[in-house]
Amino acid sequence: MIKQNLLKIKANLPEDVVLVVVSKFRSMDELKEVYACGERDFAENRVQELMSKQGELPNDIRWHLIGHLQRNKVKFIAPFVHLIHSVDSLELALEINKQAASQKRTLSILLQFHIAEEDSKFGFETHVNLSVLEEINALPHVKVCGVMGMATLTSNETKVREEFKKLFEMFNAMKQDVFRRNENFKTVSMGMSGDYKIAVQEGSTMVRIGSLIFE
Ligand SMILES: *Cc1c(COP(=O)(O)O)cnc(C)c1O
Repeated sequence: MIKQNLLKIKANLPEDVVLVVVSKFRSMDELKEVYACGERDFAENRVQELMSKQGELPNDIRWHLIGHLQRNKVKFIAPFVHLIHSVDSLELALEINKQAASQKRTLSILLQFHIAEEDSKFGFETHVNLSVLEEINALPHVKVCGVMGMATLTSNETKVREEFKKLFEMFNAMKQDVFRRNENFKTVSMGMSGDYKIAVQEGSTMVRIGSLIFE
């Protein structure tokens, strides 16, 4: 099933859109099956699960953190994490910079924006002060690679599309302004199982898909 599901999804994705397999809650056997199909980008939303799975699977996997990250946990993932999608404060970025420095690494991050209606979701507000983003962009051990956002969980496609449009517009505006000299700023992480096709139409370059692969 996993193989067929992956093939179906990939048939819907343009070649330059990265598929990140969201492996949270899934067993080692399921992850190994995904690995055997050739996938190398895996994502977890919890640090603990990210660490334990990383320790048991081949080290050519690129591990993404997509869930809310507490500052005191950055040190656990700093040695190996490939991309942190959920940076939503200057304080968190400062801690990532510090832990990256102590690992002699530069860590790649995305800035998470709050585009959904629900207020429970994390992320910078869309009217964030640009000086905060400038400060993050200047951190020597942090590479700001783009943005991430989650649309409202709703069957209203128009609403979802508007939210993705907004994130993409913000990405473009920042790319021409705050991040104009940052050649790494090119990723738009948006789209999950239920809305990835809309996200791709609206400019996504990276989709994060779980249930559609494993069910
Ligand atoms: C769980 C999760 C996903 C994947 O959700 P599915 O609906 O299972 O595809 C994507 N992004 C984040 C941030 C998640 O927590």
